[in-house]
Amino acid sequence: MNRVRLLVLNAALGPLDYRVPDHLHVEPGSVIIAPLGPRQVFGIAWESERLPGAEVPDARLRPILDVMPVPPLRAPLRRLIEWTADYYCAAPASVARMSLSSGAALRGGGTLTEYRLSGAMPSRLTPQRDVAISALDGEQGTIRELVDLAGVSEAVLRGLVNAGVMEPVVVDIDRPYPLARSDHARPSLSDLQQGAADRFVDAVKAREFAPMLLDGVTGSGKTETYFEAVAQAVDEGRQVLVLLPEIALTENFLKRFASRFGVPPVVWHSNQKQSERRRAWRQVAEGGAQVVVGARSALFLPFANLGLIVVDEAHEVSFKQDDGVRYNARDVAVMRARFEQIPVILASATPALESLQMAEAGIYEKIDLPSRFGAASLPDIAIVDLREQVPPRGRWLAPPLVAGIEERLARGEQALLFLNRRGYAPLTLCRNCGFRFQCPNCSAWLVEHRLSKRLACHHCGHEVPSPSLCPECGEADCLTACGPGVERIADEVAELFPDARIQVVTSDTLSNPEKIAAFVDAAESGAIDVIVGTQLVTKGYHFPELTLVGVVDADLGLEGGDLRAAERSYQQIAQVAGRAGRASKPGEVMIQTRHPEAPVIAALAAGDRDAFYEAETEARRHAGAPPFGRWAAIIVSSEDEAEAREAARIIGNAAPRLDDLAVYGPAPAPLSLLRGRYRYRLLINARRSAAVQQTIRDWLGELSFAPGVRVGVDIDPYSFV
Ligand code: ADP
Ligand code: ZN
Repeated sequence: MNRVRLLVLNAALGPLDYRVPDHLHVEPGSVIIAPLGPRQVFGIAWESERLPGAEVPDARLRPILDVMPVPPLRAPLRRLIEWTADYYCAAPASVARMSLSSGAALRGGGTLTEYRLSGAMPSRLTPQRDVAISALDGEQGTIRELVDLAGVSEAVLRGLVNAGVMEPVVVDIDRPYPLARSDHARPSLSDLQQGAADRFVDAVKAREFAPMLLDGVTGSGKTETYFEAVAQAVDEGRQVLVLLPEIALTENFLKRFASRFGVPPVVWHSNQKQSERRRAWRQVAEGGAQVVVGARSALFLPFANLGLIVVDEAHEVSFKQDDGVRYNARDVAVMRARFEQIPVILASATPALESLQMAEAGIYEKIDLPSRFGAASLPDIAIVDLREQVPPRGRWLAPPLVAGIEERLARGEQALLFLNRRGYAPLTLCRNCGFRFQCPNCSAWLVEHRLSKRLACHHCGHEVPSPSLCPECGEADCLTACGPGVERIADEVAELFPDARIQVVTSDTLSNPEKIAAFVDAAESGAIDVIVGTQLVTKGYHFPELTLVGVVDADLGLEGGDLRAAERSYQQIAQVAGRAGRASKPGEVMIQTRHPEAPVIAALAAGDRDAFYEAETEARRHAGAPPFGRWAAIIVSSEDEAEAREAARIIGNAAPRLDDLAVYGPAPAPLSLLRGRYRYRLLINARRSAAVQQTIRDWLGELSFAPGVRVGVDIDPYSFV
């Protein structure tokens, strides 16, 4: 009899066996719909020897219902799902769910009606119709898309359809994308760039696993260089995946890609429309999507014919997912390349210590671009010691930085002020009674946002309108903002320079691709004088007139007990500094600090990256931290404080006693209340050789907890809150 083992997309269940009716064909990787009790589940046919489960006798098997009309998931992807589940102590079903992330795509094709101008003219030409007809020349799309393009109402377009001025066109909803042209606008590379590009192109041709670290200073042309490898893959008819750390960076990338290859790449991220996601998914699976640019979840897409992976800004912490399956997309990308037997390029100006260490050990090949392209040189970095250069009371910009901005304004150049804090002020308190505004769901202060006139929690999204009275003592005009956020810095600049055109750049102000595109256009065309932004502006952008970068508070990132705080601070400041002087005009960076002697700041001031990495390496070695030792965290949470504490105690009491692995805690997490759940943490520090995952599985597998308790495992954690 024909039987099949399914990895069903339900993390609470193990693998299940089914019967395959004669009229259905199943092979490993087939996507299947099967009965489960009275319901139906999706599952993936798996090699039964790789997915141990209970053997059910033939007579008790239920038949599967159908095989979905999509290509079976290939073996390299199945191995990746197994590896990810195993390494990050996650349920295979939870990982597999990321591969089958568009339910709509699984159900086969369909059509969609788009509209375009027919060439006929209306008998009655209203001004609105006139506007629409000129805006839609050469365009085709759904009514909704055309409404956006034409800037008229849906009723106007429907009227044009009824009048025969626009005609319907039926298209396949999963239609292929226009093809990238590898020689559309090939740049002429410098010798140094050409050397790197040749190496990448050879690696694509070789079709073997090759992990490579592209270590190039900001503005050295890393993107142009790896685009040559993309071109090679496209010429060979193979697919490419480019991972970016944030959706906000996609817009900029799309533009650059389109000017190099003639068409935009295929985009994949969680904020897309359902129809776009399903089309992308199907084209990825059928090989029609040549180059996919996406956020970390694109890593689990079912590529038909992957030839290259690029992880851009590979050091970024946002590649680490902090809930659900807690994986690090940078590391999983390397594993996918290994299973697919293809090259993977990790590109960064400030590589993670772990990546540099891999290069040093000879596991990654290191490719360097040590200087900026063309006439551009790296900016000069100056320290502004806030203990000597004191900003006026209630202000945050010290005199040298103010003078620097003034100079730029006078010359018609741009300045960028960086402060990694959204909103106006991180804390609001009552001068009268001392009351502080706190989130009811989290152990965190509410952050004032003046632009939207609200107090907001940055952890759970809880918001209240900014009050005029103190809720505690009822006094009016007594609420004081403490400390600066970007909005407050923007106010300060506006007071100092009333004529300056200022733009605040945060995830609040650039909340969608249109706003990001508008910002990039404005900044490129010189319509903005001073940009005040969070980490969102530290990377990716290339504004030729930007010649001054001011770091408002370089000490901010060093607060908190995060293991990687120093490294992250270094990377962030080096990245934002890299925005200055990217074209022919030289750049200057001013770093405001109270601790000029801190190794991070000293290394930045001296432009001595190696010194920083050496000091950081020693500190990590000493602490048994990655890459010399390993960390893992166990996070226990419940809506009930006592229940969470009890579960943490049970786990703590059962902790294994081993020579190569130490357990710390349980202790209340720094964020002891998050989204209404009380949290406790245990921290595990192990030698590199220790079998951390197996130990944790054995340890937690024995225990049982109250039903409201969640226990999460975080391997190689980035966040210690
Ligand atoms: P990185 O990614 O290393 O910061 P980019 O690839 O963004 O550097 O390059 C910086 C700027 O220099 C970009 O505007 C890019 O188009 C330009 N550039 C780099 N290399 C070349 C080249 N060979 N020819 C023309 N322009 C280049
Ligand atoms: Zn909250």
